[in-house]
Amino acid sequence: MSATVKLNQGREKSLLRHHPWVFSKAIASVSGNPAPGDLVRVEDSGGNFLSWGFFSPASQIRVRAVSFVEAQVPDEKFIRTLVRKSCKRREALVAQGNDGVRLVDSEGDLLPGLVADRYGRFVVISISSQAIEACRDWILKELFELFPDCSFYERSDTRARQKEGLEERCGVIRGEEPPEVIYVLEGGQVKIPVEIPHGHKTGAYLDQRAARIYCSSLCKGRSVLNCFSYTGGFGLWALKGGARSVVNVDVSGPALDAARQGVVENRLDPGRCKFIRADVFDFLRKQVKEGAKYDVVILDPPKFAESAGSLKRACRGYQDIARLGFMLLNDGGRLLTFSCSGLVDPALFQKVTADAALDAGVQAQIRATLRQDSDHPVSLPCPESFYLKGIDAEVM
Ligand code: SAH
Repeated sequence: MSATVKLNQGREKSLLRHHPWVFSKAIASVSGNPAPGDLVRVEDSGGNFLSWGFFSPASQIRVRAVSFVEAQVPDEKFIRTLVRKSCKRREALVAQGNDGVRLVDSEGDLLPGLVADRYGRFVVISISSQAIEACRDWILKELFELFPDCSFYERSDTRARQKEGLEERCGVIRGEEPPEVIYVLEGGQVKIPVEIPHGHKTGAYLDQRAARIYCSSLCKGRSVLNCFSYTGGFGLWALKGGARSVVNVDVSGPALDAARQGVVENRLDPGRCKFIRADVFDFLRKQVKEGAKYDVVILDPPKFAESAGSLKRACRGYQDIARLGFMLLNDGGRLLTFSCSGLVDPALFQKVTADAALDAGVQAQIRATLRQDSDHPVSLPCPESFYLKGIDAEVM
């Protein structure tokens, strides 16, 4: 008999809509004394079945629901099928010349708390929930079967993991130790540096693939400023697209080293690029003071809004860098500005960017809106899985 979580009256609505999070405040009682990661049956105040989920006593998200059908108990077969179907959905992206793909993306693929990324001959997993921790062996079994020739590495070192009361776990799961930097082909054309053992996320920002490829098409003969460059993905695509010059700016020395090496690896012209280790806010201010000008400015900062409490401050940050970016653009120049804060929705981000143009004293129009690539799917009932949005604005 599995344990039971009974909700307060009226708190069943989000589960009825198949949103997978059950918050502690929604819970009336827990019976059967479940341990962290145990399967629980969630029911409404009248005892009617709502979902099967996994229990996480330390987290505000007390249960993560994975099945909404009573007869579909999430056993090994159920979980392995979700993993297999998710990997299958990536086949088109792989066929388009992408050796780096997100195989499983958490809520978007109905496996809340699991990330599995494939970088060529390496698969990297990152687990950030008790639910997925409980299913780890099943998931690995399925992935081993699907990718028998790959080495497996774990990067379960996210902040979300602490909230779930889980210890950090990193290292080789099977096969070879990954080198500090490897390269994966993107869009059949550009080799992107990936830092599996010590880089950000699982080693790269796969979510920006589509935006990088798009950016390339704007860069022919143009001068490009790539802010928050990390390992230089946008800069490499800009060079590939024929940019006259590319300036990459980031605070991370190792990321810039990888970016520099990436230019060589792609046989692009190192004479056309610069790598500057600096705080972007300071750098942009200095460039405006010096009267520098560019044709394309890319702003891809880290997440500024971690919680609702920091939303205002985050928006000021986005507005500030976009204002400076606009001031650096030539007439007809393009600002590609992004926010990966889920709390900043597209309408708010457009307003912030509009305010930035106003502050900079320029007029601009939206040439395209951009979003996380298709291997970072958005779950229909879970809008929180949509986080990365961008605007390509042209100065008129
Ligand atoms: N555009 C990149 C991903 C950028 S991630 C890609 O396509 O791969 C955000 C980057 O911002 C990280 O590399 C981080 O080191 C850098 N960063 C964070 N705060 C910064 C700051 N204040 N100034 C400069 N770089 C910063």
